[in-house]
Amino acid sequence: MRLHLPDEEAQVRFGVTLASLLPPCAIVFLEGDLGAGKTTLVRGILRGLGWRGNVKSPTYTIVEPYEFDGITLYHFDLYRLADPEELDYLGLREMLGQGMLLFEWPERGAGCLPDPDCVIRISHSREGRELTIEAINKELRGRLETALQEF
Ligand code: ADP
Ligand code: MG
Repeated sequence: MRLHLPDEEAQVRFGVTLASLLPPCAIVFLEGDLGAGKTTLVRGILRGLGWRGNVKSPTYTIVEPYEFDGITLYHFDLYRLADPEELDYLGLREMLGQGMLLFEWPERGAGCLPDPDCVIRISHSREGRELTIEAINKELRGRLETALQEF
């Protein structure tokens, strides 16, 4: 599935839509170069879940948790991960099944990450961004296909 998002506002808006489609313990990989718009998409997902506070990129902390009524969202940025085994020390194992897990730079955690429900690849396209969405989770794929027709 492909989608062109012309500006930052559209990127956030698509994140809001994604938030309504993802299951509570979804695992999502966000791929794309620095500046692709991965964190912007996470901001949209958080907004869709009702987060009203700041969203900072966990560049140095690697992971930032966001607590909601009933669920926690864990936002990972693995860009500065020295070794995938560090994920153990960060408590990844304990987070599994406890909330939504979003990974920027999943390539850097290769071999130590759970299987994703969805992989979103973002690249520059004209002034905006092109998203290639691969939904491995079948139910999610169905819901995404419907939502994309209206987006
Ligand atoms: P990443 O986390 O992938 O490094 P960011 O989310 O920090 O990237 O975004 C980098 C820049 O790209 C920001 O200035 C943001 O406003 C811009 N941006 C995000 N999505 C889009 C889009 N669809 N079209 C144009 N600019 C975008
Ligand atoms: Mg980022």
